[in-house]
Amino acid sequence: MSFQEVLQKYHLDIQPSSIETLQVNLTKTCNQACRHCHVDSSPNRRESMDQDFVNKVLKILEDPRFKILDLTGGAPELHPQFREIVTKATELKKHVMVRHNLTVSFDPHPITKESMFWIHDFFMEKKVEVVSSLPYYREYLTDRQRGAGVFKKSIMGLQELNKRGYGKKESNLLLNLVFNPVGAYLPPSQKSLEEEYKIELRTKFNIEFNSLYTITNMPIKRFKEDLQRNGQYDLYMDKLRSSFNPIAAKSVMCRNTVSVSWDGKIYDCDFNQMLNLQCNNTQNPLTLENFDYDIFSKRDIIWGDHCFGCTAGAGSSCGGTLT
Ligand code: SF4
Ligand code: SF4
Repeated sequence: MSFQEVLQKYHLDIQPSSIETLQVNLTKTCNQACRHCHVDSSPNRRESMDQDFVNKVLKILEDPRFKILDLTGGAPELHPQFREIVTKATELKKHVMVRHNLTVSFDPHPITKESMFWIHDFFMEKKVEVVSSLPYYREYLTDRQRGAGVFKKSIMGLQELNKRGYGKKESNLLLNLVFNPVGAYLPPSQKSLEEEYKIELRTKFNIEFNSLYTITNMPIKRFKEDLQRNGQYDLYMDKLRSSFNPIAAKSVMCRNTVSVSWDGKIYDCDFNQMLNLQCNNTQNPLTLENFDYDIFSKRDIIWGDHCFGCTAGAGSSCGGTLT
């Protein structure tokens, strides 16, 4: 059964709700090249949002109905206008979230070779919310997914953020971690895993953080190729299908998010973006040039079988489980 057929079976007519989050993929350049990366990012990628589109993003953000700017990539900090974008968004009183990979501050910029160690102070100064992937609290599993040496650098990154007040009970600087399974299985309970992470990271590294988000690996791009190579793709899809949760389906993140690609195209979510499923409710596909909040709010969301990744078990989104 396709995803749409399953929605029909459960009599679910899922429409956009109020759109509050503008999620912008600034660049495909990243200092890492993780195995599960659905964006296929790496230090060799050069795609990056140009000045004209950056100006359009900031213009759209002036709409008070947008409350959150969610910056992603690649490593968004590697975009040449990253600091300017964050600064302007905070002046517009938006809540800024950055999908920060914890290691980017320790490597030279892949293109300009400048030091990136300014990142932690800048985050603190602008009070951005930091959301960071840490696939596990043990070195072996993290390095297996994200590359050799990533765990050690990630721990250093978390310690730098803690030094500046991030993740501490008494501060308002939010540091949230993201867990995604290292293999072809669904994430465990978010609450119990968060407790486990807190104990392990505090005991071994004196690290504190606010919340742990568990995210299901989406069966697309690099992770899909990995599954196919290992003969696990069909099995994984069956698992996602058989774990369909209608309650999670009612809260999928595409209902309240606009996703913008580095080249100014508009999508329902980051995953549809990676699959080139551009929103096309008007005569022309939606872009930053013809974006209209009201038209976007009335669009039909483009579903595909990868959407089972968002609705399996407790559900999954950029902010963790949905139920
Ligand atoms: S850090 Fe994130 S964007 Fe970079 S390669 Fe890994 S998963 Fe992809
Ligand atoms: S993958 Fe599908 S269900 Fe998930 S956010 Fe995107 S469009 Fe919505």
